[in-house]
Amino acid sequence: MFFAQHRAADSLTHVEHLPPRPGTPAPWPDWVPPVLRSSLGSRGITAPWRHQSEAATSAWQGAHTVVATGTGSGKSLAYQLPALSTLLTDDRATILYVAPTKALAADQLRSLVALDLPGVRPATYDGDTSREERDWVRQHARVVLTNPDMLHHGILPGHASWSRFLRGLRYVIVDESHAYRGVFGSHVAHVLRRLRRMAARYRTTPTFILASATSGDPLRTGTRLTGLPVTAFTEDTSPRGGITFALWEPPLLPASPALPSTSSSPGFSSPAFASRDAPTSPSSPSRDGDAPTRPRDAEPVRRSALRETADLLADAVAAGVRTLAFIRSRKGAELVATMARRSLDTAVPGLGSRVAAYRSGYLREDRRALERDLLDGTLLGLASTNALELGVDLVGLDAVLISGYPGTLASLWQQAGRAGRAGRDATCVLIARDDPLDTYLVHHPEALFGRPVEATVFDPGNPHVLAPQLCCAAAELPLTPADLPLFGPTAEPTLDALVAAGILRKRPSGWYWTERHRPDVDLRGAGGGPVAVVESATGRLLGTVDTGSAHHQVHDGAVYLHQGITYVVDKLDLADSVALVHAEDPDWSTHPRDVTDVTVLSVRETRTAGSAGAVTLSLGEVEVTSQVVSYQRRRLVSGEVIDVCELDLPQRVLRTVAVWWTVTPEALDAAGVPDVDWPGALHAAEHASIGLLPLVATCDRWDIGGLSTAFHADTGLPTVFVYDGHPGGAGFAERAFEVATDWLSATRTVVAECRCDQGCPSCVQSPKCGNGNNPLGKADAVTVLSLVLSALSREPARRTTDLAA
Ligand SMILES: [Zn+2]
Ligand SMILES: [Zn+2]
Repeated sequence: MFFAQHRAADSLTHVEHLPPRPGTPAPWPDWVPPVLRSSLGSRGITAPWRHQSEAATSAWQGAHTVVATGTGSGKSLAYQLPALSTLLTDDRATILYVAPTKALAADQLRSLVALDLPGVRPATYDGDTSREERDWVRQHARVVLTNPDMLHHGILPGHASWSRFLRGLRYVIVDESHAYRGVFGSHVAHVLRRLRRMAARYRTTPTFILASATSGDPLRTGTRLTGLPVTAFTEDTSPRGGITFALWEPPLLPASPALPSTSSSPGFSSPAFASRDAPTSPSSPSRDGDAPTRPRDAEPVRRSALRETADLLADAVAAGVRTLAFIRSRKGAELVATMARRSLDTAVPGLGSRVAAYRSGYLREDRRALERDLLDGTLLGLASTNALELGVDLVGLDAVLISGYPGTLASLWQQAGRAGRAGRDATCVLIARDDPLDTYLVHHPEALFGRPVEATVFDPGNPHVLAPQLCCAAAELPLTPADLPLFGPTAEPTLDALVAAGILRKRPSGWYWTERHRPDVDLRGAGGGPVAVVESATGRLLGTVDTGSAHHQVHDGAVYLHQGITYVVDKLDLADSVALVHAEDPDWSTHPRDVTDVTVLSVRETRTAGSAGAVTLSLGEVEVTSQVVSYQRRRLVSGEVIDVCELDLPQRVLRTVAVWWTVTPEALDAAGVPDVDWPGALHAAEHASIGLLPLVATCDRWDIGGLSTAFHADTGLPTVFVYDGHPGGAGFAERAFEVATDWLSATRTVVAECRCDQGCPSCVQSPKCGNGNNPLGKADAVTVLSLVLSALSREPARRTTDLAA
């Protein structure tokens, strides 16, 4: 491999060789018209791979189909074959293609146009489509490429003017379907059900084809997303070059004595200790994992992942290896490029110019030019944020560096998939950041290799999603009893509640939307009207933040990232739902602190285990009351705390789903944990378990919150709660309950195996602790987790359902 040996000695924790794979071609299915074969042939596609052919044939025969294979495996051919063959053989047929982003739809449009087939008439329909174009699309287009938001806001409500298109609808293609997770996924699941209802109204039943990155249980996810039985194709038969995959942990820095810890959580005066770790929105700048987010009572213990990535990038470029580095933030990507350039120029003046940063501020053409330069070797190193839409052609590189686990195995493999050409080996390096999940993964390669990727988690039953979606459906076309099964078992009680609240009206023929205007529902938000983010100087609307996370994300003084550009909030005006901001790129990040309480509203399921019922594990509805009371400003590079600023924001109440476990005082005594140490033990276990939940569910730790307490009023016991940070729940807590043993044993392992003494960001410290990471008992956390695990795994669990709290 290309990196300097002395670095590897300290940092290389594992090397995995993924062997090259020859492709398995298949003949063209006999139903593919010759004109399509020859058009594809002239684009260099002489035969499909077997998985493409099988998935295409399944969809052609009318089965709802999901194809879930890796980057570059040619999923698009699997849906293009049946869709285009249908258009070529049936004059009236139409196709709807749905992608999560406009950029992807634009890529797909280019590829369809390039095929130059007679009468296909593809067109995008999104926020950029002009009024005249929209008329043309509705009247003439046969392939409409759009996104779920446009389907929800534009096509379904305006169905009457889409009648030609809907009548002909034969296929609905849902591309990148793994992107539909959490609350967004729950909304999209209902948008697709509304589409099915509307298609039925126009007397057609389209076949759904889903294309997904390799994802855990695509069959179940596909069924949940569409509400239909699907057939899954998961075997990738395309050829691949071999990949040497290295796991890398930055070395420990020389130890410096820790300062005595002090709680910096104001307003904390609960008689029983409780620690709170509220979720914050994923786009919060504090999520920048590479700006170390250490509390003031901990010194940095490892070299930062950013510096390691910069060094590895420089090593690679010096060795002439074409390398793409993925970094979590734009600022981080720029820092990596700058550091790599500097060290290369020191070694060989001028060599630094072969490295560039790839930024969202660039125009599309500029970005494509950078990609071309990297592919043809003009550039040797490119540092990019992983949020950016890279071009589909940017594959076949010699090396990929991944600075920090990207959150899901699906994204990891997608990024790694940029490396490697058939017949030539490539290198991929995952560089761990200083957090429990990254640490766990670089020491547990079995969690990365040869393991199915995690299931995409979302919950169409979330009442906070279902209720507004039913309103949208009723506004499109009154709901009838016959429609109810489509929306699940809770549709009827939800409708009753909407009628009781005066939002819908019930008549003998069904449920009616009574307002003049349409329901205002944002698929990507989560309850409550959104807060507008407006640039003070120009009045320009930059975007919106849902009310749920506005207090965390756009409080006065917050550093706010929007599409890779940094802003600082001047004023959050809650009365007008607006945050005024100005562009500024300070060298600090902001980290909100809050105080939180959890009340159990109802218990859905509970398991009691261990002798004398030492341990219970429960899933249920909770009410989380929280108040953002202050924020810290921390230096980006060092993580040093600059100051703490007070805030004056009202309390917020979140009704959501939580998983929680309790341990009896007797069991803790018996395990040798003295009662004064319970708070630290539970708090540390809570942090680590929040950090490890993304291992089993496609959330990241910013989607979930937690609370631990030595005595909780509702359980009467020492308790650890982990809750979904979205109103009504997003499925994460539910998933945690289902796989609790796997989840908590990984948690125990990461804490037990961490080489620190007292706890560090790699194990039990949390970057978003509401309590300043105090107290934390690392060793006691291992004892408590062992106690919980041995109880849960030993006993045939006594399981009860639907208890009242
Ligand atoms: Zn540690
Ligand atoms: Zn905490």
